[in-house]
Amino acid sequence: MNWNLAEFKLWGIDVKIHWSFVLVLAFGAFVYGAGPAGWGLGGLYGALTILLLFVCVTLHEYGHALMARRFGIGTRSILLLPIGGVANLERIPEKPAQELAIVAAGPLVNLLLVLLLLPAAWLANGSSWQGLFTLNAMGASIQNPGLQSLLVYLISTNLLLALFNLLPAFPLDGGRLLRALLAYTMPYVQATRTAVAVGRFLAILMAVFGIFSGGISLLLIAFFVYVGGSAELESVSSRAVLRQFRAGAALTHSSTTLYTSERLDRVVQLLMNSYQTDYLVRDLAGVFVGVLTRPLLINALREQGPEGRIVDVMLPAAAIPRCSPDADLAMVWELMSQSGSRVVAVTAQGETLGLITNEDIAEVFQVMGALMERQATDRGRPHVG
Ligand SMILES: [Zn+2]
Repeated sequence: MNWNLAEFKLWGIDVKIHWSFVLVLAFGAFVYGAGPAGWGLGGLYGALTILLLFVCVTLHEYGHALMARRFGIGTRSILLLPIGGVANLERIPEKPAQELAIVAAGPLVNLLLVLLLLPAAWLANGSSWQGLFTLNAMGASIQNPGLQSLLVYLISTNLLLALFNLLPAFPLDGGRLLRALLAYTMPYVQATRTAVAVGRFLAILMAVFGIFSGGISLLLIAFFVYVGGSAELESVSSRAVLRQFRAGAALTHSSTTLYTSERLDRVVQLLMNSYQTDYLVRDLAGVFVGVLTRPLLINALREQGPEGRIVDVMLPAAAIPRCSPDADLAMVWELMSQSGSRVVAVTAQGETLGLITNEDIAEVFQVMGALMERQATDRGRPHVG
């Protein structure tokens, strides 16, 4: 299901706008429309104000995305939600200096906007500061809509955006800055864990404050901080586990290879007799030409029956991401999530050695998870003797 109201591409990055954005626009139109400016002009002005506010939020996200691009990190998309924007980076750099730069770029965009908007507000106010900042905030701009109050509204919200994002509530920008700073003095996973703990504490404070002040958006942000922080801690710990293993060592040497001349009934036999789910396919000269995955096989059996030819249903080799045997499993996992492929081919000097599947990765998690739990219970046990 597609929850996006609109999608467009700007500076090479997809921007997706969530459908609930309509509600925020309607809210803006309603609040201003009910004011002295009336439903027509006030409503239009309200919708425009919210729209411009979200332009600023989008530019903030572009700050992160374009800085990330300087370090060779792509952005899958920028998602705009009623509580703010999210730049979905392909990966988060573990070099603290790079993370510092990427994170700081967002709030800096808002501060830059403040600096650009200040002279505009000054000009709109007849080249004077007089009375300008009594127009402060939304309340005044509802009572007195116009260019000056719009500019003042944008200045104050950009300032607020910069400051709010700098709260050390991981995964807000300030929390990421904290993590990057901590990472100079301790391992990355531990730095993340500490930043997440601080973030959770602040999320609880925000939630309590949100409940007593009736701030629904604050409650939503508190929820986002709490859940988002935990999810990212998990992903950072997972990567630390996977980084301990090389792709070459993770290959299953007893795995079966298929040949292009074979038919699907051979794979049915294999599936019954082994745990292997994905098969490397070679031509008669032994060259890697494709992969037959279990989902593809099941589909093909339904449509073509056991007489179907492997070569007709396999994924071609060109569609399979590759890595070297020296790559660690965290890189393999990243390749999988970037390409959406459930397998990665391990290749050395043009020769394909084997496949790593997402089930292999899941297995590493299971085994390492069990080992870590075991260690934890050992540590918790009182020593005798
Ligand atoms: Zn940000």
